[in-house]
Amino acid sequence: LDNKPSVGKGKAEKVVTTTCTYCGVGCQFDLNVKDGKILRVTSNPNAPVNGMRLCVKGRYGYQFVHHPQRLTRPLVRQYLLEGKPRPAGADRGPWVEVDWDTALNLTAQKLDDARLQFGADSVGILASAKCTNEENYLMNKLARQVIGTNNIDHCARLCHSSTVAGLALAYGSGAMSNTMKDVAEQSQALFVIGSNTTEQHPVFGTMLRQAVLRRGVKLIVADPRRIDLCEFATLHLQQRPGTDIALLNGLMYIILEKGWADEAFIAERTENFDAFRENLKDYPPEKVAEITGVPVEQLYAAAEIMGTHKPMAVIWAMGITQHIVGVQNVLSLANLQMLLGNMGIPGGGVNPLRGQNNVQGACDMGGLPDVYPGYQKVTLDEARQRFEQAWGASLSPNLGMTVTEMIPAACEGKIKAMLIMGENPVMSDPDSNHVRHCLERLDFMALIEIFPSETSVYADVLLPAVTFAEKDGTFTNTERRIQRVRQAIDPIGEARPDWIILSGLAKRILQRGNRKIDASAPFAGWEYTSPAQIMDEVAAVTPIYAGVDYERLDRGESLQWPVRGKDHPGTPILHVGQFTRGRGKFHPTVHVPPADQPDGQFPMILTTGRVLYHWHGGEMTRRAETLMAIYDRPLVEISPEDAEALGVNGNRRLRLTSRRGSIEAEAWVTDRVPPGLLHANFHFPESPTNELTIAALDPISKIPDFKVTAVRVELV
Ligand code: SF4
Repeated sequence: LDNKPSVGKGKAEKVVTTTCTYCGVGCQFDLNVKDGKILRVTSNPNAPVNGMRLCVKGRYGYQFVHHPQRLTRPLVRQYLLEGKPRPAGADRGPWVEVDWDTALNLTAQKLDDARLQFGADSVGILASAKCTNEENYLMNKLARQVIGTNNIDHCARLCHSSTVAGLALAYGSGAMSNTMKDVAEQSQALFVIGSNTTEQHPVFGTMLRQAVLRRGVKLIVADPRRIDLCEFATLHLQQRPGTDIALLNGLMYIILEKGWADEAFIAERTENFDAFRENLKDYPPEKVAEITGVPVEQLYAAAEIMGTHKPMAVIWAMGITQHIVGVQNVLSLANLQMLLGNMGIPGGGVNPLRGQNNVQGACDMGGLPDVYPGYQKVTLDEARQRFEQAWGASLSPNLGMTVTEMIPAACEGKIKAMLIMGENPVMSDPDSNHVRHCLERLDFMALIEIFPSETSVYADVLLPAVTFAEKDGTFTNTERRIQRVRQAIDPIGEARPDWIILSGLAKRILQRGNRKIDASAPFAGWEYTSPAQIMDEVAAVTPIYAGVDYERLDRGESLQWPVRGKDHPGTPILHVGQFTRGRGKFHPTVHVPPADQPDGQFPMILTTGRVLYHWHGGEMTRRAETLMAIYDRPLVEISPEDAEALGVNGNRRLRLTSRRGSIEAEAWVTDRVPPGLLHANFHFPESPTNELTIAALDPISKIPDFKVTAVRVELV
C-alpha cells in the first residue's frame, strides 16, 4: 500500500480532525493535507469511539474525494435551457454546463411550478444519511416551510425504519439505548442477531471480539449465514431467513419455563405482560425448531446463556429490520430485553447498529414524513404550531409519503417533481426495474450529488455538492453521539456544501412570492452564514439537541442526545429508571412467512447485504483504488453443495433470476451460506442486485423485504 500514489507520501501541511463518512460507528480520524489534497488518513488517539482503531474504509476510502469523475459544475438538460418540453421516454437529452444562478433559478422555478399546479404534495424530497445534521435540518425546513409538504424521507426507510417504529412502540424512543463502549466493556453476554458486525461496523466488531477473547463474554450469533463473528462465538444459531419471530419467541418460552425472567423488573417497569406470556404458548421449542431449523438443544443452550448472564446486550442490524415483519422482529427483541431486565443498565440494552454515518442524525433532523426535528409529530397540533411559529408558515397536518411510497406514486402521476440530496434510489431501492420506470415518469428531478450516479440518468438538473472533507458540520453516530465534521480542503471545482445549495434554492423559491411567510418569525429566514448558526437554530427548536453547540463540541465535549440544555452533559444510556414512554410495553408477536416464497420455478432464497470493502451503491468506494484493489467485482456466495449440483467449478458466472428481473455475477463458493441460500451485495451497477428484490413492505414502517427473495440460479 505504501507504493500506492494515492496514499500520499511526504509531510502534511495541516492535519484536520474529522468524522468518517461511511458507517454509523462514527470513527474520528485526522485528514493529512498537502497542496490542497488529502495525503492520507491517520488515527487520532483522542477519538472518543474508536481511539486508534480504523477499518479499511476509514483508512483508505477517502480516495474518492479527488476522483476525476467528481461533478464540478452544475449541469442542466438542454431542453430546459431552450424552454422546450421534456423529450418523451427515458432519454432526457444532453447535459449543458451552466453557472449556479441558472441551475438554481431553474430548479426553484420547476419545484414551485409543480407546487402551484398540482399542490405541494406533488413534490417529493429525499434528504440524506450521508449529509450533515445541519444540511438535513435545512432539507426538512425546505420541504415543510418552503414547499409546504411532509413528503420527505431518506434511506433510513430502507434500513432501520422498523427499528424506530418498533422501539418507539415498546419504549417511547427509537434509538440505540446504550454506548458501544459499555456494551463491549460491561456486558456478560452478547446476542448479535442479523448484524454482520465485523464487516458492516468493523471497529465495533473489534470491540466485540475483545469482549469475548479478553473478558470471556458469551457471544450468541443468530444468522442464516456463517458470518465472521461465528469464528469466536459461543453459539451460532443458523435460523432460516424470515423466521426471527419464531426463534425469539421460542427462546423466551424457555426463559419463562426455566424461571430465568426478571420478575421484579417486569412488575415494576412494564405493562401488557400477561398478553405477551399467553402468546408465547404457541412457540414450544419443538415447533420453533421445525420453523427455524435451529435444533431444540441449541435453543435451550442459548436461552440458558441469556437467562444466566446478566447484563446481556442485544445488537442487530438489517437482518432483523429488512422484512415485512421488521417492526414485529424489533418488538420481539424489545420483549426479550424487558423479560430479562436488561434495560437501563450498562452492558445491556437494545443496540440497533445504524448503517450510514449520519442516518441517526438525518432522522433526528426531521428527514422523515411523520416527524419534525426531534421526533415531534407532524400530526400533533402542539408540535405543528410550534414549528409554524418558528418558521412563520402554515404547515401541512398530513402525514407525508415514505420513499417506498413516493416512487410508486410517481408512476401513478401523484408525485410530479423530486428534489434528491445524495441518494441513489436506482441502486438502493427494491425492484429497480420498477424504480427506473417510475422515475422516468417524473416531470422534473433535481439531484444534488458528488458523482453522476445511476439515478442521475433520470435527473433534469445536477447540482454538484462537496464531500465530507470539504465542509463543516456534524454527524450523529449510531449511539446518538454528535460529532464534528471539519473542512480540510477547498471545494473541488465549483462544488458547494449542501447547506449553501439548499439555502440558495429556498431563497429563490420564496422570492417567487407564491408561499406566504411571516418574515418576523424567529427562524423564517434563510440567510445562513455557517453550519454553527444552523446548529443554533436546530438547538432552539429540537429539545433533544437543546444543549448542543459548536463551542461545546470544539472544546472536546462528546455529547449524546438528549442534551437538554447548555449545562446538561448528554445521556449515554436511555431508559434508566423508567422508559421514555413511562412503562415499557410488551407486544405479542406472531411468526409470518416471508412474502416471496420459493417454489419449483424459483427454488432458492437470496439474501442481500454489503461487504467490508464497499459501501451501499458503491459510488464512493468504487472510486477508491485501494478498496477496488482488494474487492473489484460483485460476488455471489453459493454453498459448495449447490455449486456442485450446478456444475460450478472455480470462478464461474451465474445468472440469478427472480420474479422481477435477472442479473449476472461471479460465484464465490463458500460454506458461509448453507445449501439453498445465496448472498449477493448491491455495490456494483453491473450486477444490480435490487433488480431481483421485492418491494413488499412492512405495513407499519414501510421498509422493504431485502432479506428473502426467491430466485433460481443457472450457469451463464
Ligand atoms: Fe468508518 Fe465505520 Fe470503518 Fe469506523 S468502522 S472507520 S466509522 S467505516
